[in-house]
Order: sequence, then structure tokens, then C-alpha cells
Amino acid sequence: MAGRYEVRCPEEGVDMNDAERLVDTIKTLADPMQPHVTDFFAKAKHAGYGRLEITEAYRSLTRQAELYGHGRTGLQLRLKNINPTFARPKLPKVTWVTPKNAKHCQRLAIDINITAYPKAHWGIIGHIAEVCGLTWGGRWKARDYCHLEM
Ligand SMILES: [Zn+2]
Repeated sequence: MAGRYEVRCPEEGVDMNDAERLVDTIKTLADPMQPHVTDFFAKAKHAGYGRLEITEAYRSLTRQAELYGHGRTGLQLRLKNINPTFARPKLPKVTWVTPKNAKHCQRLAIDINITAYPKAHWGIIGHIAEVCGLTWGGRWKARDYCHLEM
């Protein structure tokens, strides 16, 4: 969902073009993840999806705990050994993974602005990611269309 996560690129605020920003963001990922993501953006661009960008890559454990707190009570967080002050039970849930298990925290996941394209195209974009060796969250029971991981 567009705007669901803030963009957290290290070069934020610096005047860089999109390609430079993408390369820099890919460098923040784990080494084994980088070639898959580079390949994905190259193949996606070739297929006509040149407006795709990374909206979030690495996430700190604290940030994942904050996100996990959305839609959960302090008790639910305590049961997962997460600081209950992150509980925001009235907000909609945005994640189903705890900080311990989040691929974003391991630098093995990215979110993309898939909503820049009509929903009819999302399956194609997800398939391109799969061809590049990535897992697409759009296939999960709790669909996460913007999420790619390895
Ligand atoms: Zn994600």
C-alpha cells in the first residue's frame, strides 16, 4: 500500500537521481540479496516497469517492533517478548512477523511501490521477481503485494 511505510534511504535529502538512489539502497541489503534485487529492477525495467522503486529495505529491530505493535495489545506483544509500549491496538495490522523473524531486519527483504501500476500488472511484476530468485509476498495467504524477499 503506497505510503504505508516511510522511505528510509541513507541518502535521503541528498540530490541524487533515481538510478543512483536505487543503487545506494541496494548496497544496504545483505550481500546475497543484492544481485537478485539488481536483476529484478533490470528485468522489470526491460518489461516496461521502469517506475518501480524501493520504498523500504533494511528495518531496525525497533522499527519492526513499532510496526508489529500496530493492531496488537500490550499483552499480545508481551507474549512475543516485545516491549508492550509499542502496542497500538486501534491501528490496522501492517505486519505478521516479529522483529526476530523479519527478513527486513536481516537485510533480506525490500518493499516496492507496486501500486504505481494497476493491480492487473502486479502478478507480472511478482513473476519477474520470482524469475530473479525472490519470493513475492503477493502469493502469501496474508497478501503483501509490495514485499520481495529471499
Ligand atoms: Zn516488506
